[in-house]
Amino acid sequence: MQAAVVHALGQPLVVEERPIPDPGPGQVLVRIEASGLCHTDIHAARGDWPVRPTPPFVPGHEGVGVVEELGAGVTELRIGDRVALPWLGHACGACRYCIDGRETLCEHQQNTGYSVDGAFAQFAVADARYAVPVPAGVDPWDAAPLTCAGVTTYKALKVAHVAPAETVAVFGVGGLGHLAVQYARVFGAQVIGVDVEPEKLQLARDLGADHTVDASSGDAAAQVQELGGADVAVVLAASASVFEQAFASLKRGGRLVCVALPADGTMSIPIFDTVLKGISIIGSIVGTRQDLAEVFALHAAGRTRVVSVRRPLGDVNESMADVLAGRVPARIVFELPTIDREPLVAGPAEQARP
Ligand code: ZN
Ligand code: ZN
Repeated sequence: MQAAVVHALGQPLVVEERPIPDPGPGQVLVRIEASGLCHTDIHAARGDWPVRPTPPFVPGHEGVGVVEELGAGVTELRIGDRVALPWLGHACGACRYCIDGRETLCEHQQNTGYSVDGAFAQFAVADARYAVPVPAGVDPWDAAPLTCAGVTTYKALKVAHVAPAETVAVFGVGGLGHLAVQYARVFGAQVIGVDVEPEKLQLARDLGADHTVDASSGDAAAQVQELGGADVAVVLAASASVFEQAFASLKRGGRLVCVALPADGTMSIPIFDTVLKGISIIGSIVGTRQDLAEVFALHAAGRTRVVSVRRPLGDVNESMADVLAGRVPARIVFELPTIDREPLVAGPAEQARP
């Protein structure tokens, strides 16, 4: 199969032939149809963060495809099911976080495209319990960006407890931000889109933002304050200074939701303002399987629109450069060519045996 592989951190990915992996017990083999490119994949390939992945590895945690083979003991899925392979590839299922609905905080988690091979390939194996079914009303091209960009921004608004008629400022209207604008509207909020690119501001307006702020034309926080300030500011731009602007854009009682992960990851927060204004600072990391199921349900109900462009996997390095340069309208989704291969087993009945 074709796969895009990181052989050395900071070096271009190599698109090469690899053997199709075998699903182990509890795993499924998924034929990937669509695979979104997230900024995290770029951080992974460069080794930007304190916990680095170990090359060689295949990035990609917005994989959507069809189950082709079941490993021993799999009862959750059937051959032919369409599933999404998100960042949370595996969690222990037994710790306090897994039990109380915060599985994305599990200390024993495996991350797709980081600690285990991901979806920049024609096939991937996945833990059947953490592959999320994609409903019939959601096509794979939309499902892929929803699998990280969608669930991450939906969860960010959930943890901020956005109330109807509050104001949400979205800092960074790209792959994540264009969905954050829409989820903020789903929650009933007024929305301010903040970016430095005119096309992204136009995109925010097209998707229903009530106001836009051009951060390249001066102090973004002051501009948001002129509009009345934000009850919730969601930071999706991977730059520490944007977090500080977002903080300064808040009203009293405001919530700063930190989502982007800049490599130079320290922000400076005034304690006096935080205390006197009753500000909350919240970290939000992706979303659970249930959050993703909700994201798919909203999309199937026609409540969201995904903006993306399709590219062949062979363009992976140019695509990463385009994302870093801000040249991408919202999301890039890689198209994986179908391989003709002999089915390894007779059918679902035989597959399902323990
Ligand atoms: Zn992601
Ligand atoms: Zn756990």
